Amino acid sequence: MSKSASEADLVALGGQFLYPNYRQPPFVIARGKGSELWDKSGKRYLDMHGGIAVSTLGHAHPKLVAAIASQAAEVIHLSNYFYNEPNIRLAQRLCGLTGMARAFFCNSGAEAMEGMLKLARRHFFDKGQPDRYRVVAFDSSFHGRTLGALAATGQKKYRDGFGPLPGVTHVPYGDAGAVRAAMGPDVAAILFEPIQGEGGVLPAPAGFIAELRRIADEHGALLLADEIQTGVGRTGKFLAVQHEGVVPDALALAKGLAGGVPIGAMLCKAELQGVLPPGSHGSTFGGNPLASAAALAVLDTIEAEAIIDNVNARAVELSQGLAELARKHERLVATWRGMGLLQALVLRDGIDARGVLEKLREAGLLISLAGASGLRFSPPLVIRKEEVAEALAIVDRILLGLP
Ligand SMILES: *Cc1c(COP(=O)(O)O)cnc(C)c1O
Repeated sequence: MSKSASEADLVALGGQFLYPNYRQPPFVIARGKGSELWDKSGKRYLDMHGGIAVSTLGHAHPKLVAAIASQAAEVIHLSNYFYNEPNIRLAQRLCGLTGMARAFFCNSGAEAMEGMLKLARRHFFDKGQPDRYRVVAFDSSFHGRTLGALAATGQKKYRDGFGPLPGVTHVPYGDAGAVRAAMGPDVAAILFEPIQGEGGVLPAPAGFIAELRRIADEHGALLLADEIQTGVGRTGKFLAVQHEGVVPDALALAKGLAGGVPIGAMLCKAELQGVLPPGSHGSTFGGNPLASAAALAVLDTIEAEAIIDNVNARAVELSQGLAELARKHERLVATWRGMGLLQALVLRDGIDARGVLEKLREAGLLISLAGASGLRFSPPLVIRKEEVAEALAIVDRILLGLP
């Protein structure tokens, strides 16, 4: 295939050769800059999707580009048989930012979840309680697609057809009484998302996360936070649990951590540092210099460019705009919710959310669905004031045109 293949040809080839587990629209994105993307035919899109809350610094941020290029020119990969400086520095930075003592690196969110679930099981095995491996997690949660992470995921649409996925009890999100009722001497951990992302951008009720900390402590169970979508500044603090002042025993990061370079991390308290000794867990690519250098560039840039301040300023504009859209289009919109730059406009039952998404895309706005009817806004954290306004105006225009 030559470089000048037409967009239509590529779309046809994608339809022919890619495993058809996604439903891509019929264009091919060629490049991006900040919160904008362009397809091969030159059409511009405003990116309020952010690659599913991944593109922290937007597209082609010069500092991230430079960090990746210069690290690639030094060494890309070694495996964990050897130390590399970017990874050591990244571990130190993340421990400082999260209050954890140790960092394990992998390549995705699901892998970070696997590491965390294995940590919890092995912890109680080491304490002479091998039967203590049950996890209490939540309905409408999402923790990833591998079998362990899928067992923790509390949504039928992701689990159906994959056979028995034992070891996890799911209870309603936000219901502390149901958590208490599900606890028992066989429970190793409570696992939660501070805001359920894929489930529909559902924030935890006030005080709920602190209550989970208390329940875990009362039962001697671990508290595990899945900050894969909410972490790295997305909600206006480095971690979403920091809004509640809660410190979990371990937490998972991935998505936005390296600004789009695949990475996952599991961080834990010092008490858990002996649980997974050499040989018990690992990853060939985990902690590689390239992804680590990218993550360091993301963390440096978040600080140097005061990006969390931008998140908080844009979040206010976004939530005010969504509230206004909800008022104006009461017939179509049920509510809006979320925090920081993870917010959703929730359409009423019976409105074809996927159809709305397609119309927005045709109008040049990329966003994604969360839950059955949430239009999820998870833009780059560097998104500008005018771009938030533009996105809201496009949504307004499309909703006005709906029958
Ligand atoms: C995306 C996501 C995952 C899974 O991450 P992958 O990198 O797709 O494996 C797990 N938990 C949450 C909360 C997520 O948003």
